[in-house]
Amino acid sequence: MSDECSEFLADAYQSNWIAPLGPHLDAFEQEFAKKLKVTHAIALSSGTAALHLALLAVGVKPADEVITSSLTFVATANAIRYCGAKPVFVDSERSSWNMDPNLLEDELRHAAEQGQLPAAVIVVDVFGQCAEYRLIAKLCKEYKVPLIEDAAESLGAEYQGQPAGTLADIGCFSFNGNKIITTSGGGMLVTQNRQWADKVRHLATQARLPAPHYEHEEIGFNYRLSNLLAAIGRGQLRALDDRVRKRRANFQYYQDHLEAFPGVEFMPESSGSHSTRWLTCLLIDPVLFGCDSESVRVALEAENIEARPVWKPMHLQPVNTDCRVRGGSVSEELFQRGLCLPSGSNLSKNDLQRVVEIVSDCSRTYRRRKAC
Ligand SMILES: *Cc1c(COP(=O)(O)O)cnc(C)c1O
Repeated sequence: MSDECSEFLADAYQSNWIAPLGPHLDAFEQEFAKKLKVTHAIALSSGTAALHLALLAVGVKPADEVITSSLTFVATANAIRYCGAKPVFVDSERSSWNMDPNLLEDELRHAAEQGQLPAAVIVVDVFGQCAEYRLIAKLCKEYKVPLIEDAAESLGAEYQGQPAGTLADIGCFSFNGNKIITTSGGGMLVTQNRQWADKVRHLATQARLPAPHYEHEEIGFNYRLSNLLAAIGRGQLRALDDRVRKRRANFQYYQDHLEAFPGVEFMPESSGSHSTRWLTCLLIDPVLFGCDSESVRVALEAENIEARPVWKPMHLQPVNTDCRVRGGSVSEELFQRGLCLPSGSNLSKNDLQRVVEIVSDCSRTYRRRKAC
């Protein structure tokens, strides 16, 4: 939290707008829309809520199929299930770790041949980096399938100079505690389409029609962000650029100190992409490095330092055994060999040094043993 966050929060508190709506909510939406250069931004209670309403806005219905990235957090796939629809997972490409446009093309062509095009595509911008929208957006336009961008992990990133979250028909963000900026919990949906924006606002407020007695023609949700949390969000948004710089500096430090080890490969920054490096991710080849990514994670944990595996692909999750997947081996390998290092915007030089020392020791110990 910055000083600005607590000032805005104190103002919201003192004004007594302790309600879902209020002046800070309006201001947060306006400031967010301005920063991303979009016409509509709707603040919601979570990133998951944003994804759910994005799908409903573009008309996803029960029994529809929705194509999405396999390498993601479960919320993306869950939002599809909330609509009664079924996810179809597409594997990653090596260059961005995001949805492989060639596999998407195969899937869309095949679906068109069967006369069963999906109701939507949700592409995830994983770990702070945008997917290959030049190709993906073209394909979705060609097949007339609405494209939704799950930019929950990538606020502040850019693709060909354009902000993450604005590369599809609708963009979704999260302000959960682990994201680059946070309101403790919250989300945002952005779009240039007025009809969709109106529909999302309507559905997020219990689909209440403007009658004094509250008239309802469809089922809505209680998905709005509160005025208090929006006040925090305004302060956070002002810190975004600085946080991107800090996250990228974390990545740079790790890369400078670890890249020379055999079997270490950092997450690439694909061409035309400016990643936030929300998380610093690397791949470890156990044969060359001397131990696998899980041993490194455990060595860090022994020093009370939290690291995590790369997302377990959705097509490997027990909850999704009824779903199709196109490809799968790339995200499986990223999961098997991948590690996300501590990446907070407030890590000190000393914190980074400690991590580097422990990771280095994992490799050196092995190679010393082997030399004996
Ligand atoms: C965090 C996250 C979400 C969900 O956001 P919440 O605000 O936690 O509901 C969705 N998709 C991805 C890729 C995420 O990382």
